[in-house]
Amino acid sequence: MRAIVLDAPARPLRATELPDPVPEPGQVLLRVHACGICRTDLHLRDGELEPGRLPLVLGHQIVGEVLLPDEASTHAVGARVGVPWLGWTCGECRYCRSGRENLCERARFTGRDVDGGYAELAVADARFCFPLPPSADWPDLHVAPLLCGGLIGYRALRMAGDAERIGLYGFGSAAHMICQVAVHEGREVYAFTRAGDDAGQAFARELGAVWAGTSEEAPPTPLDAALIFAPAGPLVPAALKALAPGGTAICAGIHMSDIPSFPYDDLWRERSIRSVANLTRRDGRSFLELAPRIPIRTRVTSYPLAQAERALADLRAGAFEGAAVLVP
Ligand SMILES: [Zn+2]
Ligand SMILES: [Zn+2]
Repeated sequence: MRAIVLDAPARPLRATELPDPVPEPGQVLLRVHACGICRTDLHLRDGELEPGRLPLVLGHQIVGEVLLPDEASTHAVGARVGVPWLGWTCGECRYCRSGRENLCERARFTGRDVDGGYAELAVADARFCFPLPPSADWPDLHVAPLLCGGLIGYRALRMAGDAERIGLYGFGSAAHMICQVAVHEGREVYAFTRAGDDAGQAFARELGAVWAGTSEEAPPTPLDAALIFAPAGPLVPAALKALAPGGTAICAGIHMSDIPSFPYDDLWRERSIRSVANLTRRDGRSFLELAPRIPIRTRVTSYPLAQAERALADLRAGAFEGAAVLVP
């Protein structure tokens, strides 16, 4: 099969031929129809996150068709499924046993510990693949970004409880989907972008944000929660300053630069800071059930598989609105 591999961090991805993957017991073999690009892929490519193995096929937002089912036929031949970041959990540790499989001590992640979807074929544990509705209403390209940006963004939004006024810091793939969920839930969305990103701010307003500005600006009214999707530590004290008493700053990314120190006064009055890690299968099921009912419309830029390196460069440069998806 054709695949794109990471040989070593901070080196360009390489297009190559690999032997077709052979499913192990419990796994399905998939033909990859589309694979969303996530900022985590860029962190792995750039050496900001450590890959679980090398060489490695990145990609953890896979929309695929089942070519070979698992023994239990969890998904039928020809079924369309989505493969997320959470690829396997032990089922035994204290986190798995208490509904927190996202924190499993032995978890394996797609496109980090096992080969992912920057390829024509992939294998995945059948129990961690989500069934997807028929493609006519919901094309592969548009579903792929839901599988990480949408799903982990949704987990972050749930952490905000019933916050009425939500700030989204970094208006990329995840934020453009979560903005639509928050608006659907009747919340007010305040979008924060890099200075000078007028296109990003216009895009946020188009999706229902009541206000859009730069992350250095104060919103017109204090926020009940801030979801931070951009990997920049200085956004944390900036978001704290924008929060009303009792508000929460939620860091939704897997990697962030260091957070600068800030006066205790900015945290005082029950403001809090927390992170969101990975996803549980329950998050995935509830989000994928909700998404078509809103319905979430993803803005997608597609790239052929061979241009994965360019797609990551464009993500680094903020060259597109919404999400990028690779098509083998
Ligand atoms: Zn576990
Ligand atoms: Zn991701």
